[in-house]
Amino acid sequence: MSQRHPWKVSLHGGHSGEFCEHAVSTLREVLEAAVNAEFSVFGVSEHAPRSQARFLYPSEVEKGYTLERLHQEFAAYEAELARLAEELQDRLTVLRGFEAEIVPAEGYREEMLAHRRRFEYMVGSVHYVDEIQIDGSQEEFDAALAGAGGLEALAVRYYEAVAAMAEALRPEVVGHLDLIRRRAPLDADLATPAIQKAADRALEAVAAADAVLDLNTAGWRKGLGGPYPAPWLVARADAMGIGFCFGDDSHGPQDVGAGVEAARDYLLEHGVSRVRRLNRLDGAIVKEWIPL
Ligand SMILES: [Zn+2]
Ligand SMILES: [Zn+2]
Repeated sequence: MSQRHPWKVSLHGGHSGEFCEHAVSTLREVLEAAVNAEFSVFGVSEHAPRSQARFLYPSEVEKGYTLERLHQEFAAYEAELARLAEELQDRLTVLRGFEAEIVPAEGYREEMLAHRRRFEYMVGSVHYVDEIQIDGSQEEFDAALAGAGGLEALAVRYYEAVAAMAEALRPEVVGHLDLIRRRAPLDADLATPAIQKAADRALEAVAAADAVLDLNTAGWRKGLGGPYPAPWLVARADAMGIGFCFGDDSHGPQDVGAGVEAARDYLLEHGVSRVRRLNRLDGAIVKEWIPL
């Protein structure tokens, strides 16, 4: 029978090839993997559709994706997720979420809050600085660097965007807090005094929104040598009373549960002895502290 641990939760992931161009497999296959990985709660957070063609990824353009298709797939995702959450309820608590975007700079808030009304929770993520993607191609990252005037300035702008997003959207979960590491040189100093100050502001906004921070295991898979966020941010957030919850950021069954045990060890090593998970109780979403 199930050995499900209460702390074994992912709130960020569950992307599937059925509804996401850069993921694989069906949502059902992803959720079957989550059952097999013995999660207690598994939140699914497919990407919200972008609303302007200039934000289509090069890989999407290549495959002939259109805005219309993104929106159709997102509507189909909403329906299929509701169906599967109900079907699987005796084996796994599946939470119905999505991952927000902060583009276009003008207007994203209304769009994302409109999506939010149809789901149980939102993962607020910043994938763009000044409308340039920072976790896409190296070319785009370099354009963002040039636009900001260097890595420190870009990192400051990034954390300012995280703070603004948290204030504008008040998401239940804030995704991969230091995603700015994704394309930066591994030996770059991303904790200069100016960056720390901007990150502290972002954390204050996260705390004010009562959001949970995503302890995101994709950092290991992307060769960063650790999850998001880095230890100094874990310590700062923990000292401010902000809770963490795991996110496998899965983009197919192969990623489901990947790194979650290691992420538990990582939190314990850095002095965090509990997670804060979302759960569904009597039909409502609640936040619960769970010991590790
Ligand atoms: Zn993705
Ligand atoms: Zn993301």
